[in-house]
Order: sequence, then structure tokens, then C-alpha cells
Amino acid sequence: MISLGPQALSAIARRPATAREILTVVTPEHPPAQGQSSGADAREPRPDASAAGPAALPGPGVGTDIGAEWSRAVKALGGAAEICLACHVRPDGDALGSMLAVAHALRARGSQERAPSSPPARIVASFGDQPFEIPRILRFLPGAGLLSPPDAFPERPQVMVTFDAARADRLGTLEASARAADELIVLDHHASNAGFGTVNLVDPAAAATAVVAADLIDRMGVELTRDIAMGLYAGLVTDTGSFKYPTTSPRVHELAARLLRTGIEPGSVARELWDRSPFGFLGLLSAVLGRARLEPAGAAGHGLVWTTVTRSDRAVHGLPFDAAESVIDVVRRTDEADVAIVLKEDDEGRWQVSARSKGAANVGRACVALGGGGHSLAAGFTAHGTAAEVMSALRLQLAAGPAAAVRGP
Ligand code: MN
Repeated sequence: MISLGPQALSAIARRPATAREILTVVTPEHPPAQGQSSGADAREPRPDASAAGPAALPGPGVGTDIGAEWSRAVKALGGAAEICLACHVRPDGDALGSMLAVAHALRARGSQERAPSSPPARIVASFGDQPFEIPRILRFLPGAGLLSPPDAFPERPQVMVTFDAARADRLGTLEASARAADELIVLDHHASNAGFGTVNLVDPAAAATAVVAADLIDRMGVELTRDIAMGLYAGLVTDTGSFKYPTTSPRVHELAARLLRTGIEPGSVARELWDRSPFGFLGLLSAVLGRARLEPAGAAGHGLVWTTVTRSDRAVHGLPFDAAESVIDVVRRTDEADVAIVLKEDDEGRWQVSARSKGAANVGRACVALGGGGHSLAAGFTAHGTAAEVMSALRLQLAAGPAAAVRGP
């Protein structure tokens, strides 16, 4: 299980690594088999974060001087003339929200800054999707105007920060910039993150990357504004499933309280993220739920429920791809199944597969084996072929997988 993949090796080769860091490098037992990297739109329950204080980073930084990692990050951000921010492809609320929050904070710091001798840093923020499109449900986030398309991103950034990406290849077309960056600050909370940066702020105990981003903003000495808080709050509610997942710790609610004090309205954020859709969505839901299949013997006897959302389903109702995103949240209610799967056909005809587990099966492991990623309870991957073929491959992985109880490093 503990071995070094080529990607991990190249990341390590770029900087001195401690023995402890190498030990935390975990690669999939099965190499990616098909498709591209995951659609891990992972809003997954994570281990309780309440025990971890704000300075704790028990991830790849374990055994290293955490304080030193933080000060190196703050110093790099303080001295740079240009700061480049990138989050993972097909960003979710945590990825984009955390990145926009830090973008707002860097701007605020620029105007608060006492050193008038040095001009404020130029901020570039993007994600490596081609075509470059901000997911519809995230367009309410303040700061969309701060984003630029990935082809405007510097090829060799002086200082670059990544958000919510467990691996460099999750940055899509911006992976090359990350590898070329002089200083690469990795902000994340995925247990599988091997630390591909020169500075790794990875906290697997954090419920969201937004929690780590909030810590960074505090350490930069920037006051929370409403715009900063909106991004962080979107990350927090996305990754805790609106404070429903087991990761919803006292630390999560404490941060939420601070964010709400800036005046943001939780009701309107929830409505933007989850509680609205065009009328056509009802028709789509009716069709895709009507064809859902329950396989009681699936997922090693824990039960499997699945359905598909095809391009033609969406075309009938005039819906874009991301309208299919929330279908999994209905399908996963099924009492008789531990595992819920939704195969969503994108505009290019590929299947973007979402997988959820209630805890008996490890969908993260299955999705990683199929070339994707995510967490043990929420994961995804991209696949080609017919729905039947994709499901066959997935059934095999889920039948073989060990229990999800073993997590993280
Ligand atoms: Mn996240």
C-alpha cells in the first residue's frame, strides 16, 4: 500500500522531503484504468475534526514543523508581486469558495497593507477546465470577476496556491504551472494528499479546505469580510452536507458562527446551492428516479442502488449538465442500499460517475481503482463506454473492496 508513484516521486524530488513525508505517500493499489481524473464532487463525511486545534496539520506535515510550514506560507504570500491561485477542475463549493475567499483576503490585505512602498500583489485565480465555465450553482459567489481563464494563467508562477486538490493532476490544464511554480502552497484536507507542494498545508481532520483557508486568512492578519465569509461558508456547507455529515464538529460550527457574524445569510446560500432548479428538473428527476435499480446483493451484500442521467434526459427538459448534480442526494436516501451511484452523461458523451456510501463500503477505493478519486464515503470517476459496462466495472470493484472503516493515514 505504501509505495511511491511517479507523480509522488517527482513532487518529492523537487524539494527536500522528510522520511515521515515519504511514509505518508499513498498510491492506489490499482493504477488508474480508464477515463480521466475524478469528478470527485466529494461532499463527504470525514473523521471528527473537533480534537484538532487550528494549528494541527496531521497530514503530510506530521513530523515536520507545522509552525514553520505556516510561516513559510504566510511569508511567501507576503513577499510576492504576483500570487496565482488554482482549485481543482469542475470545482465544487469547497474548491471555488476557498479559493475566492483567499483571493478576497489577499486583495483586502493589499488595501490594508501598511507598506506603501511595495505595490499590492497581482492576484490571478483560475481552474484548469477547458472549456472554462463557472459551475452554474456557484455563480452567486462574490468574486467571479476575480477569475480568469486558465490560458491567462502564468506558466511559471512565482507563488502558486492550490485549493482542495489531492493530486497535481486534479488541477487539469494548470498542473504544468503547479509543477513549474517556484513556491507551491498546497491547501487541502484530503487524507490521500501526498503533499505535492513546496509548502503543504494539508489537514485531513479538517471538514473542508475552507477550514484550512480560514486558518491561513487569520494568519495573514486579514479581518473576515462578507465576501471572504461567503466563500468559506460555501465550502463549509458543501463539504459537511449542510452540517449533516459526521465531520460536523464543534470546530465547524465555531467557524460557521464567525462567518455568519459578517452578515451573510445562511438561508440564501443554501437556496443557491441546493434548493432551487428550473421546473424541467422535476421531469428529469421523475425519469431518472423511475429507472433506478436496487441490487440488494450488490456492494458485497450491503446493497447498491443506481441510475443514469443521460444527455437526452437533459435535452428533453433543456437542462445543463450540472442540473444532474443533485440527483445523487435523492438516490442515496435508499434504506436498502449502502452504496448509491449516479452515472451522469456529460455534453461530450462521457460518464461522470458519482458514488456515495453510508459507511459499509469504501467507494473512494473503488473510484480510485477506476481512475477517479474522492473519499471513502463520497467519490467519483470519469468513464467511457455504455452504462452497463461502467456498472459492471464498478460492481466488481465494490464486490472486492474492503470495509470503509479503515481510513486515512
Ligand atoms: Mn473539500
